[in-house]
Amino acid sequence: MAHSDHYLPLYDKSGNFYAVLLSAELWSRFSHRLEPMIRGMLEDMEPQERPEPLHEWDEFKQYWDFKYPYEARVECGNCGAQAEDWTTDPVRPFTLRSAQIGGLAVFQCRACGATVRKKHFKDHVCFEYTLHACGSR
Ligand SMILES: [Zn+2]
Repeated sequence: MAHSDHYLPLYDKSGNFYAVLLSAELWSRFSHRLEPMIRGMLEDMEPQERPEPLHEWDEFKQYWDFKYPYEARVECGNCGAQAEDWTTDPVRPFTLRSAQIGGLAVFQCRACGATVRKKHFKDHVCFEYTLHACGSR
């Protein structure tokens, strides 16, 4: 390849091809074209859902200042799925979407797809459910 310092295939000690290195110059000039392509390819290769923002839950837990002890119960009012502690439930019926220090934690029910909002108030917790129509996430 003519511009080998911009595009470099990398091999490990045993000669196995494992990556391609793009120069910073190539990337900065063409990332606007490359990134959307790569993102699309990654979605094809790794179709699983985006990772749960577990760090948000950790932070939320760390700043727990409600009048009741820490708990991580989640229930879906739509299909009845529930977990005493969604973080340790081996079946993991709920996927964390977001958690805010202020007290709002949003989950998705894996069984029925409902969005479950768990609102932590000073002295009580309440759940809300929203069902999405097909294809309108
Ligand atoms: Zn459900």
